[in-house]
Amino acid sequence: MSAAVCNHITAITEVKRPTRHVCEECVKTGSEWVHLRTCQDCGVTLCCDNSPNKHATHHAKESGHPVIASAEPGERWFYCYPDEEFAEY
Ligand SMILES: [Zn+2]
Ligand SMILES: [Zn+2]
Ligand SMILES: [Zn+2]
Repeated sequence: MSAAVCNHITAITEVKRPTRHVCEECVKTGSEWVHLRTCQDCGVTLCCDNSPNKHATHHAKESGHPVIASAEPGERWFYCYPDEEFAEY
């Protein structure tokens, strides 16, 4: 176990929470999602990897925005894609 947390996560000073509790891409097409994640760079809320469209992962790869946070009530964690690092807050 490493105690190191990536610089992307440690740079976050204010956690972005979802403004609407929906995947902003799935609602356009009427698709379903399982869980929601909020990009900590631009604040967009998208669906998780258990969802058919995996919009949060696609967004991170396409935009280069590294860190998402769970948008689920009661869950308080970040995930950094390039460092594959989870951190609670
Ligand atoms: Zn990182
Ligand atoms: Zn989606
Ligand atoms: Zn983003």
